[in-house]
Amino acid sequence: MAKLTVRDIDVKDKNVFVRVDYNVPLEDKSGEMVITDDTRIRETIPTLNLLLSKGGKLILASHLGRPKGKKEPSMSLKPVSIRLGQLLNKPVQFVDDCIGPNVAAAVSKLKAGELLLLENVRFYPEEEANDPGFSEKLASGMDIYVNDAFGSAHRAHASTEGVARVIAKRGGLCVAGLLMERELKFLGDELENPARPFVVLLGGAKVSDKINVIDRLLEKADVLLIGGAMAYTFRLAQGYKVGKSLVEPDKVDVARVALAKAKEKGVKFLLPVDDIVATPVKTDKLDKKGKPIIEWQNPRVNSDMNCPDDAAGLDIGPRTVKLYAEEIEKAKTILWNGPMGLFEDARFAEGTFAIAKYVAEVTQKNNAKSIIGGGDSVKALNKAKLGDKVTFMSTGGGASLEFLEGKVLPGVAVLADKV
Ligand code: ADP
Ligand code: MG
Repeated sequence: MAKLTVRDIDVKDKNVFVRVDYNVPLEDKSGEMVITDDTRIRETIPTLNLLLSKGGKLILASHLGRPKGKKEPSMSLKPVSIRLGQLLNKPVQFVDDCIGPNVAAAVSKLKAGELLLLENVRFYPEEEANDPGFSEKLASGMDIYVNDAFGSAHRAHASTEGVARVIAKRGGLCVAGLLMERELKFLGDELENPARPFVVLLGGAKVSDKINVIDRLLEKADVLLIGGAMAYTFRLAQGYKVGKSLVEPDKVDVARVALAKAKEKGVKFLLPVDDIVATPVKTDKLDKKGKPIIEWQNPRVNSDMNCPDDAAGLDIGPRTVKLYAEEIEKAKTILWNGPMGLFEDARFAEGTFAIAKYVAEVTQKNNAKSIIGGGDSVKALNKAKLGDKVTFMSTGGGASLEFLEGKVLPGVAVLADKV
């Protein structure tokens, strides 16, 4: 069911509580917190401009980092208010709290077409606890709720869910922002009745992270192409050796069930036919968690379905790329979640980048719809400089995965349906 959006409603002179995702990366530069990537702020501008042009009074709320319910100056949203003001070319008042008398005073002075940004909602433990009393305080004086923070919609927190309930109970409208609308359209509606063939690419680290997505997509897809480390759990299920590859032996049964379901549903389910393997060597260097950093030595193409005992599979091989490209080239709809290999290391990025190139090509030339979900998949597409050549890249990370699993996201459920 489609949700009401900011396009559909009248906000003139109304107090509009807008939940945005301004969880931006910050760096301490000689005592001053500086925003190192303002993408998340930029992405909300269309929604804000629309609401401002309709004469709304906007009260923006977001979380930033994990302050664990305490006031943590390094996680203040103050720098965001300044950047937002520059991007909107408009003054953005910052309020050093998200509830209470300072907020009430600032809100009462807002005029139509003006906005303010509240301080980090996670400075209160009640935010993540979805405390009803706290939600009442957030909702105080608010007429309308807008959620444009899809990436936080899988969590039932006060600012993503509780406050909307309070406003809805009073008869106020709760609607989606434009960013949220796009996420719901591409990850939801477009995949409900996809143009066919519908080809799904699944990769990344673990079968256990993705099994619910695999299960659901086996109901909808024509072709499933598997890459990444999860391929090795499937190989193990088929009786091959996986060497030192990242693998989940306890998920072998789950993999078998998926293979059987694919067969039963007539879904073409392809696994890599070759890979790039390398030998792990422990170094003296320690990572952030204090574990020895592994160095990958002697990267090589392996055409055997068995992985050498001393090596791990880290990328799909050239024959697999070719095989998968043939499927991608025929696709009318593509959903991609999870990189094909350890793309953070250039030696194991070729498979992911080659697949990205084919996905971009079929999007541009054949008018196929390509939808990318998952935080690392989006990173990989951007690294390949192909982010703007696909139809849609989700901003959702964990939320997009849960949405693709078919789960009801609390921050979405609370929004009004279109009638
Ligand atoms: P997404 O965030 O797009 O959902 P995941 O988080 O599931 O993707 O997986 C991404 C991670 O999986 C990346 O950090 C990548 O390096 C890792 N990965 C992919 N293939 C392999 C592999 N063969 N061996 C080890 N790690 C892998
Ligand atoms: Mg990830």
